[in-house]
Amino acid sequence: MANGQQLMADSQSQSLKLKSKYRMTRIIDGKEIASTIKTEIATEVKSLLDHGKPAPHLAVIIAGEDGAALSYVNSIEKQCKGVGYICSAYKFPANVSEKDFLATIDFLNRDDEVDGYIIQMPLPKQVSMDKVVAHVDPKKDMDCFHPINMGNLLLGNECYAPATPYGVMELLRRGGVETSGKNCVIIGRSNIVGKPLAMMLLQKDANATVTVCHSRTENLPQVCRRADILIVAIGKPEMITADYVKEQATVIDVGIHRIPDESQPKGYKVCGDVKFDDVAPHCEAITPVPGGVGSMTMACLLLNTMKAYKAKAKSEL
Ligand code: NAD
Repeated sequence: MANGQQLMADSQSQSLKLKSKYRMTRIIDGKEIASTIKTEIATEVKSLLDHGKPAPHLAVIIAGEDGAALSYVNSIEKQCKGVGYICSAYKFPANVSEKDFLATIDFLNRDDEVDGYIIQMPLPKQVSMDKVVAHVDPKKDMDCFHPINMGNLLLGNECYAPATPYGVMELLRRGGVETSGKNCVIIGRSNIVGKPLAMMLLQKDANATVTVCHSRTENLPQVCRRADILIVAIGKPEMITADYVKEQATVIDVGIHRIPDESQPKGYKVCGDVKFDDVAPHCEAITPVPGGVGSMTMACLLLNTMKAYKAKAKSEL
């Protein structure tokens, strides 16, 4: 069996195992939802190509050798290919000059064949985040870096939402979780997950009542136990136990970690910020890690690229 097929089969059997172990809990299968989105995109791309149109084109800029970042970029290249997109990856060594890095952004801004791009974090220390943001063209900003896109997100205007919060929203919507009128507690206030997600849940299409918690929140378990929907983006492996969760809540785990584990064939296990075995029996629904939010991030990056492609086509009419 090919590697990709084997991974898919492993993930499906993992999902089936969880579903049979926690019969009373609904496991929201991010991998399956992401796969549906990617099939929809691939169908749309085929139709574009059949009509003689170019394929959508996503570019990625990365500097350095960070393993997780490189593997994310490799995965973007693979997933783009899978749906029929063109993907260009600009991979620089960690000592790339700031001038060359910014020149690449300027080049992508001018390149009419590129619909959108992302700039992979972390940036090398000699490259200023402020300068990078100042160079990004909001029309090609697939990760919502630019203050114009973040402002539009806050105002509820059309924009490119950051891929992970966008993924959480799609997971809730397609996973059949009602948000309107629900108490939604987010743990984590980062600019890439917690804050934009809070804005999206507040908009009139979601209508949630939102609380955002962080490292200085007092009585965190007590605040979390008020949540109908608890969304966890802390970056602390398995920190959230059953003490933080109201009976029959929905729990969405954004965290993703590799923890050394000699009992596993690869020497590590992948887990989230939620202690799954402890929490799952108390939930109405929960996302697993892997196979939850992570799969959705990629699918939503592809959705943003299609949106940019269509916006460009419309502007050229
Ligand atoms: P971050 O480190 O930027 O932010 C973490 C947040 O958690 C902060 O706002 C901090 O105040 C809060 N926090 C930390 N310790 C806390 C505590 N003890 N109690 C309450 N709040 C606490 O992290 P991030 O970039 O938002 O990522 C969060 C997690 O999500 C990480 O595990 C990351 O790997 C994961 N992530 C996953 C995806 C994906 O596609 N699945 C994408 C982005 C991030």
